[in-house]
Amino acid sequence: MHKDVETLLEAQGLEQRLKELDAEISSLPRRITLLEAPLAAQQAEIDRAAAATAMAQAERRKIESQIQDLKTRVAKSRNHSAEVKTNQEYKAVLDEITYSEGEISRCEERILQLMEEIEGHEAAAREVEAKRAQIQAEVDAAKAETRARTDADLAEKQRLQDQLGALRQGINPNTLRRYDRVARLRGQAVAVLDQYACGACRVRLRPQFLQEITSRPEEVFFCETCGRLLYVAVASSEANVTTAPVA
Ligand SMILES: [Zn+2]
Repeated sequence: MHKDVETLLEAQGLEQRLKELDAEISSLPRRITLLEAPLAAQQAEIDRAAAATAMAQAERRKIESQIQDLKTRVAKSRNHSAEVKTNQEYKAVLDEITYSEGEISRCEERILQLMEEIEGHEAAAREVEAKRAQIQAEVDAAKAETRARTDADLAEKQRLQDQLGALRQGINPNTLRRYDRVARLRGQAVAVLDQYACGACRVRLRPQFLQEITSRPEEVFFCETCGRLLYVAVASSEANVTTAPVA
């Protein structure tokens, strides 16, 4: 195999790994977004429960102050009852007391209801909060993992790019230009000769061209159909059955 082709095969492997690293680096944040997805809905649920709790508490305070007013009124009526002159006046005062006491017990019932409602809202909020905390912990762990993974990927990327740069320095500039052009166009620019065909585009080679390739290992050959650099696998130069990875 021509030394340039050998080097370019190695370069192609590095480029493939670089593409994988790029794909991984760009896919990592998406995983976090997916994990974070339920958080917003859960926060909204917690906010709704907190708003409902606040409303119930405000109503409770209002009713408590109503009870205080009613109790003051009852106390006044009781004092007043000692001073009334007629039975009719006395009955009116008693009616007022009965009415106020009825209102007080109605208010107290409503307070009990509200306390139950508040407990319900708070329990619901606690439940969602627990789920949310669990997801947040998963998100935090995934973020730390992603940072570490990305750092490792970037370090590997740098190492491979340095290695690739060094490899490219040793290649004939014309061969390198053709390689780059085909790589841009087709992803991978080096293909194995697979029996009588280009291992990538599968087009059968002209017999004369085939003979040239197999008999002149010191030269670089390009597939006449797809333009890829062709090489003969080392193990068996005549009938090679391995298939080249196709981009
Ligand atoms: Zn081809």
